[in-house]
Amino acid sequence: MNLNFDTNLAINYHSNSQKIRVMSENWLVDNVYCVKCGCKLKHFKNNKPVGDMYCEKCKEEFELKSNKAKLGKKIVDGAYSTMIEKIDNGEIPNFFYLNYSLQNYKVNNLIVIPKHYLTKEIIIKRPPLPQTARRAGWIGCNIDVSSIPESGKLYLIKNGQEENKNIVIDKFNKMLFLRKSNAELRGWLLDILKCIELLSKKEFTLNDIYSFEAFLKIKHPENNNIRAKIRQQLQILRDYGYLSFTKRGEYKLL
Ligand SMILES: [Zn+2]
Repeated sequence: MNLNFDTNLAINYHSNSQKIRVMSENWLVDNVYCVKCGCKLKHFKNNKPVGDMYCEKCKEEFELKSNKAKLGKKIVDGAYSTMIEKIDNGEIPNFFYLNYSLQNYKVNNLIVIPKHYLTKEIIIKRPPLPQTARRAGWIGCNIDVSSIPESGKLYLIKNGQEENKNIVIDKFNKMLFLRKSNAELRGWLLDILKCIELLSKKEFTLNDIYSFEAFLKIKHPENNNIRAKIRQQLQILRDYGYLSFTKRGEYKLL
């Protein structure tokens, strides 16, 4: 994979953000594959917002965010209400986060955040723009990336090194079961996945997960039986083939 932007594409653009947009979008379409099926990506025609691509074969949709900074705790995104609407309608795309070097216009990191990791809880409202702004009162949003389990931040390129394509596609498809759950339930599943990751063990016990009870209570204050909810989510993860029950109260990741 060629990691360099084609700087010739930027010649006719004046603002730096336009140059980056044109170079990074073209780089993505020319070099990167659909993480669901491995096919090439295409630009949407003009009726769609910029930065959006799709896969002709499986129809998966993607939005590209490019930044000279590495992926941090949040991604700044567009209008809050639009984002929430897209999640409700199931129209939210997968996100590519591309981190480039401004010195040599080269791709350092490329991460995909699959759309099944995007729930309303991690879309954070920004303060409305002040009265002095051109779009006074407009409310944007941030995606709280820090809440997303690591399995929801799939690297295609890490520190300038390409990850194995088949492994990336496998990892993406392995978690597609999350799309079967409705938004409310999915939030719980993702929280439990995050807890399992924090344990960083292949095998763990129910008590290990119970140790996150207080953390989960903060995230779900309305729930008065966190332990029952934990057991229920572990059963769902077992039914989806993510983990198995070895003995009573003991689990193994598959
Ligand atoms: Zn595809």
